[in-house]
Amino acid sequence: MKFGGTSVADEAAIGRVTAIVRRQLERQPASDSPPLIVVSALSKVTDGLLQVARFTAEGDRDQALTRLGELADRHVAIAATVTSGARLAAVTRDLHAEFTATSDIVRALSSLHDVSPRLLDAIASTGELASSRLLAAALSESGVPAAWVDAREVLQTDAEFTCAAPDMDGTHARARLKLAPVAARGDVAVLGGFIGTTGDGVTTTLGRGGSDYSAAIFGACLDVSEIQIWTDVDGMLTADPRVVPQPRLVPQLSFAEASELAYFGAKVLHPSTILPAVSKNIPVRILNSRQPNLPGTLITADARSSQGTLTALACKRDVTVIDITSTRMFMAHGFLSRLFDVFERFKTAVDVVTTSEVSVSVTVDDARRVEPIVENLRAFAEVSQEREMAIICAVGEDIHDDPTAFGRAVSALGSIPLRMVSQAASRRNITFVLRDADVQQAMVQLHDAFFGTTN
Ligand code: ASP
Ligand code: MG
Repeated sequence: MKFGGTSVADEAAIGRVTAIVRRQLERQPASDSPPLIVVSALSKVTDGLLQVARFTAEGDRDQALTRLGELADRHVAIAATVTSGARLAAVTRDLHAEFTATSDIVRALSSLHDVSPRLLDAIASTGELASSRLLAAALSESGVPAAWVDAREVLQTDAEFTCAAPDMDGTHARARLKLAPVAARGDVAVLGGFIGTTGDGVTTTLGRGGSDYSAAIFGACLDVSEIQIWTDVDGMLTADPRVVPQPRLVPQLSFAEASELAYFGAKVLHPSTILPAVSKNIPVRILNSRQPNLPGTLITADARSSQGTLTALACKRDVTVIDITSTRMFMAHGFLSRLFDVFERFKTAVDVVTTSEVSVSVTVDDARRVEPIVENLRAFAEVSQEREMAIICAVGEDIHDDPTAFGRAVSALGSIPLRMVSQAASRRNITFVLRDADVQQAMVQLHDAFFGTTN
């Protein structure tokens, strides 16, 4: 069970989490191992710690220590509301110890005006160390048998500080050593997400948002039956609610569908972070800690959705279309590789591509280097560009098997002009490029056609 930062932001949120964990223990068969709890830093704390690191790098020791003190106070104040007596005294001491260790680093480094990635990770890890200590104490206080485990002693990574990659074998071995005894006692182990150590025991982090990744890594190493990602939304939706007024919840989708949608900003969870779990066929469920009775969204390796042809729609706004035309492309080879080489040289990713005999159209999201790209392409082709375009992507495993899907999508769009159209090789998505000004209307019409009227 992984809980995100907003799920442990304050006393009320932590109260909801303890109730969710208790309910899990009541519902699961007594023979099952107790759940493993992975927790993010309290909301905004990682941002705060990175600010502390910035002040430190600037040599602004006072600001760094003041900010760090505020973060410590917030944890201690919450501890006083979720624990009492000896437990409060113990967790307060532990929290102070974590923050004192970090302030020692800040003091030592601020005179050097330098924070290396290695030290950045040491500072950032404070958030998950503190949140996990706090949650373990709160669970114990509420009668759930819980034990805090230093996640750094379990998750082994390489030495790519700030974006470390897990060492699955090392983590597996450490998990057996550290976690099996906790489970054998019937205790719920509580660990911070996001943090680990190298083989030599130096603190690392997995990169921003890395707690989901930690949950998937632990889940895969322990071969759990399910991974629950508890967050503050109901799950994946059939469309972005800022674009389509009343999207529906997607009850179930495949990992591949989630990956197609992720690029287009379906923000709930980045599928690549759950890859360790999905590749071992462990289902991942997204749940809302404010609405624990809702079914959420289940992501599995090969779900066949029963919802209809499409699983969800996504859109990406403000993209640039580049049209490249060359009569020399006629019956020639090597044209595409020359063309993509230009994008490669300017490190710009191309998203949608359509081709005809003499022209190629591509979309780019990151328009910062479009001017030099266009200039270089002009060496061998005619080039034009159009800004303020958008991509709509309709995703569904069942697009394969439904020959009417494409026609229905196009006719749902009616008279809205389409700039590029593509059905991906995976045949799991249909992509349209159109004017950004039309995207909202187009999304609503598509949503109505495939998921029913929105209001
Ligand atoms: N606390 C870390 C972050 O904010 C990791 C996480 O929340 O997943 O990026
Ligand atoms: Mg987070």
